[in-house]
Amino acid sequence: MTGGRELGTDVPRGDIYRRLGIEPIINGRSTFTILGGSLMAPPVLEAMRQAAECFVDLVELQAAVGRRLADVTRNEAAFVSGGAAAGLFLSAAAAITRDTDDGILRLEELDGRPRDFVIHRAHRIPYDLAIGLARGRLVEIGGPDGTEEAELAAVLQPSTAAVFYVPKSHLADAVLPLETVVRLARPLGIPVIVDAAAQLPPPDNLWRFSEAGADAVLFSGGKALCGPAGTGLIVGTSRFVGRLAANAAPLQRLGRPMKIGKEDMIGLLAAVEWYLGQDQAALARQYDAAVDAIVAWGRKRGEVVVERLATGEAGQPTPRAWIRLAGGSPATRDAVLAALRASRPRVDLLADDDCGFFVAPETLEAGEEDIVISRLTEVLGGTFR
Ligand SMILES: *Cc1c(COP(=O)(O)O)cnc(C)c1O
Repeated sequence: MTGGRELGTDVPRGDIYRRLGIEPIINGRSTFTILGGSLMAPPVLEAMRQAAECFVDLVELQAAVGRRLADVTRNEAAFVSGGAAAGLFLSAAAAITRDTDDGILRLEELDGRPRDFVIHRAHRIPYDLAIGLARGRLVEIGGPDGTEEAELAAVLQPSTAAVFYVPKSHLADAVLPLETVVRLARPLGIPVIVDAAAQLPPPDNLWRFSEAGADAVLFSGGKALCGPAGTGLIVGTSRFVGRLAANAAPLQRLGRPMKIGKEDMIGLLAAVEWYLGQDQAALARQYDAAVDAIVAWGRKRGEVVVERLATGEAGQPTPRAWIRLAGGSPATRDAVLAALRASRPRVDLLADDDCGFFVAPETLEAGEEDIVISRLTEVLGGTFR
């Protein structure tokens, strides 16, 4: 998935970091911001380089990039935010001001505004802090085993700013379908905000949630889109996207601290165009081959049980390998993961909730699964002597 390849320079890959004493990491964890998100494709880097060569009017550029992004993602409107989390803030601002003339969130004008954001308990995520930042309040509905339509209907009030929805497939049993949420909220004029930050692939998610009736849908630019890590893509209706833009940089509004530059806007556009041009079937075969290689390695070893899972960490249809230590404990697992990260080449993997861990193929560069396998062989050999 990641686009980073040879860039044709003489400097060995990673030396820009090694010069600072930072050893780069082989990322088998997936598109986590803490590791840098994803690697940008060469056309994205080249577009950003060209964007850096001139001055432009950022309001004009954001509007033009938004029109192009809307076109290629089959949406009415689009906007580039400073990450999907900034999109949460901006869409919360637009929801709180939905009945005002100008849509601008002002902290001294909060009285009487709708500020409740309805959210399924299963959809609580660390990023929902950004709704609080806009002075929104979360109102939880539902439980682990399901949510009644009547509970949503009862909670939708004039004080409701929006319904906030996180479409992760593995949570589907605990929450109402998006279509139900839209059917109940829309007639009351209550916007539906969908956080699909990590819900790519499949690419048609770029338009599917808007077609289902969401007012705004948020994607992370730095995950599967392989765009600049500091960007987010917001798609949705012209009215809602226009109003959230009124709160964003470069305007001196509450969204101004989350500014992005011209290179980011051009970079995200190049990334979305690049992403939509990818051969998804070929990518899926590449991921399968990496996972299969790890499963085949595991079959030959007594100290691990390796299984292929059909979905990724955020529920998206990307396979991964699940490795459990036979007779292991969380402490042994933590020691294995720490050892993988400590010596070179450094490998970073995600722990499960028990005593296992995962290898995700989408952030591995071609052939890096072999490095993961040889490092695992080395570390496990040292652990289980
Ligand atoms: C990653 C993620 C975010 C944050 O995205 P950024 O682009 O890093 O700001 C928000 N919501 C969900 C569900 C995510 O997975």
